[in-house]
Amino acid sequence: MRTIGLIGGMSWESSAEYYRLVNEHVRARLGGQHNAASVMVTVDFAEIEAMQRAGDWDAAGKRLAEAAVALEGAGADMIGLCTNTMHLVADRIEAAVSVPFVHLVDATAERILATGLRRVGLLATRFTMEMAFYTERMARHGVEVLVPPRIDRDFVHEVIYRELTLGVAEESSREGYQRVMNDLAERGCEGIVYGCTEITLLVDETDSPVPVFDSTRLHAERLVDLALEG
Ligand code: GLU
Repeated sequence: MRTIGLIGGMSWESSAEYYRLVNEHVRARLGGQHNAASVMVTVDFAEIEAMQRAGDWDAAGKRLAEAAVALEGAGADMIGLCTNTMHLVADRIEAAVSVPFVHLVDATAERILATGLRRVGLLATRFTMEMAFYTERMARHGVEVLVPPRIDRDFVHEVIYRELTLGVAEESSREGYQRVMNDLAERGCEGIVYGCTEITLLVDETDSPVPVFDSTRLHAERLVDLALEG
């Protein structure tokens, strides 16, 4: 089994999910007492969040590239970045290491295509919904991504930063997310991407009228499948 390197802390609420999911998937595949061989470098989300707000993607990219180098030095055979948003600086991270960088969008898009769907709605931070890095990479796979209207994007984003990354999940927010997903389905989305690694702390697949693609789970499973290859 190869060692999975995880860049965590964005937020740690979802890093804990990644840790659980990679280990559960190894157990599902190998059984018995098996768990994942892994290392995690955790950054302080307060620092990263300040860089996001300032639009200082250069500093954020440098910080996360350093984390990846530390993981490689600690024996990681591959790198997984435990956040959708910071895949904005994926190129920077990938360039800093010699081990494979396992991209979350690729893992998510491939599952969408395997399910036979082509058009999905996206719930994520404003950065992920509005900046091209995510939807363009989906489009390269042949997946069309629709995002909610401005007012709903603001709502989804605020819930992530004011609640989910702080370990809070309000019932009113869950109902709001359900409404946003219903609207996306009515606009023709055949599935919904949970494109923020904390979203399942608030909603699950039963909250959506169409199939859900949880980027956290799909990414974690992809990392494990790669670790067990060969
Ligand atoms: N974890 C979230 C994501 O998947 C948001 C926090 C962050 O900005 O990294 O995008």
